[in-house]
Amino acid sequence: MDLLVVGAGLFGLTVAQRCASELGLRVTVIDSRPHPGGNAWSTRDPETGIEVHRYGSHLFHTSNDRVWTYVNRFTGFTDYRHRVYTVHRGEVFPMPINLGTINQFFRSAYGPDQARALIAAQAADEAQATGGTPDESLESRAVSLIGRPLYEAFIRGYTAKQWQTDPAHLPASVISRLPVRYNYDNRYFGDTHQGLPVDGYGAWIERMIDHPSIDLRLDTDFFADGPFGRAATRGRVPIVYTGPIDRYFDHAAGRLGWRTLDFETTIEPVGDFQGCSVMNYADADVPYTRIHEFRHLHPERQHSPDATVVAREYSRFATDSDEPYYPVNSPADRDRLLRYRALATAEPQVKFGGRLGTYRYLDMHMAIASAFTLVDTELVPKFYPGRR
Ligand code: UDP
Repeated sequence: MDLLVVGAGLFGLTVAQRCASELGLRVTVIDSRPHPGGNAWSTRDPETGIEVHRYGSHLFHTSNDRVWTYVNRFTGFTDYRHRVYTVHRGEVFPMPINLGTINQFFRSAYGPDQARALIAAQAADEAQATGGTPDESLESRAVSLIGRPLYEAFIRGYTAKQWQTDPAHLPASVISRLPVRYNYDNRYFGDTHQGLPVDGYGAWIERMIDHPSIDLRLDTDFFADGPFGRAATRGRVPIVYTGPIDRYFDHAAGRLGWRTLDFETTIEPVGDFQGCSVMNYADADVPYTRIHEFRHLHPERQHSPDATVVAREYSRFATDSDEPYYPVNSPADRDRLLRYRALATAEPQVKFGGRLGTYRYLDMHMAIASAFTLVDTELVPKFYPGRR
């Protein structure tokens, strides 16, 4: 073994695939779960044959040509474009906020410039009322982008359910992921390349690891005894660690906060339950944040006319035994993270990466791009300089 990769998510698998195929390294990848792919994992529901994204809908999108070329080596993509709707007080609106949302909400027929002027006036009123310079919180950023009425309707309740954290204390970066558009383009993502893997995430991932120099070991815990455990490998082989960074250091600087998701999955006896793949629920009195209906992710497939798989998504704070999904990033978390980063620099044989290893929310394409950077700027020069 020339390299141990801990974690078979998209970050770890990209590192492993490139190191095996381009550098000729023998790479072992371990994962504590019984399947590879991290949260980008889908399987067919045995009863209906519908492909279910086991960790919630995963939509592939990127404007990075290098990432797009790379992933297309392992899978083709459909021309699926993600569109989301949101329910507020018994009415359905398009999401992200666009001219359609604005005109429906204000019962108006504004053109782009009129809508811009309205939102700008609302944001200015707010700035005057609070009398201050906006801080870098989610609430401040959102209100300056969309004004108070749209914020209260579509963001406040949803965000309260998703984070259970005062939006004044959440970083603005959380909301920066959502565009606001002054036209009727209601695609959720604006990226150049978008789509879903034609035969599913599982098939894509299987092809990525199909290499004679990649040894994948599932159900293998890095923190247990054994030949691939921390005790046996630390200092003996270069390691790319993509698990939770606080866990690696035995929580020496305290626990980093994570949100986890629970999915209540049911088979409904209808051919179409909600008419779209994701319906958000903006109001705080509905306990779930959104409902996924997986058949709509693949409209090009033939599906059962009288059965559909839906999953209600609930969000809560993660305990140690839960799957971590979203880093909370409270001020205390950010302090702890700095301490973990300092500890990480004292482990030169171990490189930390991926969503859990860096405590950063990464979309799939970001995880892949960040794995490229790790291989090119860290692994090759530090551990395998003669390999290129
Ligand atoms: N958000 C919201 N209302 C919505 C959708 C999103 O308030 O209908 C906010 C919320 O704070 C959420 C953030 O925007 O955490 C990012 O949303 P996104 O859909 O990108 O999150 P993901 O799909 O990755 O969970």
